[in-house]
Amino acid sequence: MLSAAEIKQLPPDQGIEVAIVGRSNAGKSSVLNRITQSKNLARVSKTPGRTQLINVFVLDENKRIVDLPGYGFAKAPLAAKQKWERAINEYICTRESLTGLVMIMDIRHPLRELDQLLLDFCEHDELPVHIVLNKADKLSKGAAGSTLQAVKKSVESYTPTPSVQLFSALKGIGIEELHKQLDRWYFSKAASSEML
Ligand code: GDP
Repeated sequence: MLSAAEIKQLPPDQGIEVAIVGRSNAGKSSVLNRITQSKNLARVSKTPGRTQLINVFVLDENKRIVDLPGYGFAKAPLAAKQKWERAINEYICTRESLTGLVMIMDIRHPLRELDQLLLDFCEHDELPVHIVLNKADKLSKGAAGSTLQAVKKSVESYTPTPSVQLFSALKGIGIEELHKQLDRWYFSKAASSEML
């Protein structure tokens, strides 16, 4: 639909919005391309930190997916990092249509400092979070399973408790589970507002 440089350029705050966010290079663009079955919807960039815009994709007139800028580039200047933090916090706190946040992490480096900060923002606003441990193909099945359990344990004290899953954009692992979570957000709220 559009690419916005700032929160205030986003489309009207109506319907159901799900946002997707993650550390740079965790594979956010690859996950987006996988779940939308498109090769190049979100450009897979080899240079970390190139996608600095908020990209809005429309699924239907009431449902959007918002691709938030990645974070955690070592080279980003402090002012840019602070600007990102403020913008994301403002987005999470003020966006009424925001129903859930998908957080993409590289399974080999889960729950880094900025991931934790984002989880704090979401808890503060009672926003449901779904954690996607991407690049599961990089670990053995056993190691991926242990990481899944460890991450679940680390986040269980957050309210609401984030759900966590394994994923591989490369191998196509976990697509159905992620679709199910998106459906829960897109359709449960739609159903409850229709009942009103
Ligand atoms: P973004 O910066 O978070 O949008 O990450 P990209 O989607 O651009 O991916 C970063 C790098 O990780 C690219 O080289 C991708 O090919 C690679 N990548 C993404 N997902 C996977 C995955 O599931 N498995 C593996 N092995 N590599 C992946």
